[in-house]
Amino acid sequence: MSNCLFCKIIAGEIPAAKVYEDDRVIAFNDINPQAPMHVLVVPRRHIATLNDLSAADDGLVGSMVRAGAQIARAHGFDGPGFRTVFNCNAQAGQTVFHIHLHVLGGRTLAWPPG
Ligand code: AMP
Ligand code: ZN
Repeated sequence: MSNCLFCKIIAGEIPAAKVYEDDRVIAFNDINPQAPMHVLVVPRRHIATLNDLSAADDGLVGSMVRAGAQIARAHGFDGPGFRTVFNCNAQAGQTVFHIHLHVLGGRTLAWPPG
């Protein structure tokens, strides 16, 4: 999608600190990290929100979650723990309308979230 920030990162038009990529997803450091590790796992295909997923995307979402766990393990946070978050629409705080999995680790994370 031409006016999408994450599509521009995927196309290489906007720089990002990539930490992982494969044929379906890329992952890069969040520009405004909320924890020592804060990575965003993003599908290469533009999907605006979780509401736009279909059953055909089940494998893609599984790949995103597994990539997040692999990235957390590479940082050494598989044992201590890490958090994964998808925000969906305004009340959850979604600001970029191309789905992304937040992967946070490296500090104790409060629950419930704010
Ligand atoms: P959300 O609020 O769930 O939509 O998350 C969007 C995330 O994208 C926020 O955590 C932002 O800090 C992050 N973000 C915005 N612009 C960039 C960028 N250019 N590179 C990396 N992360 C970004
Ligand atoms: Zn997009």
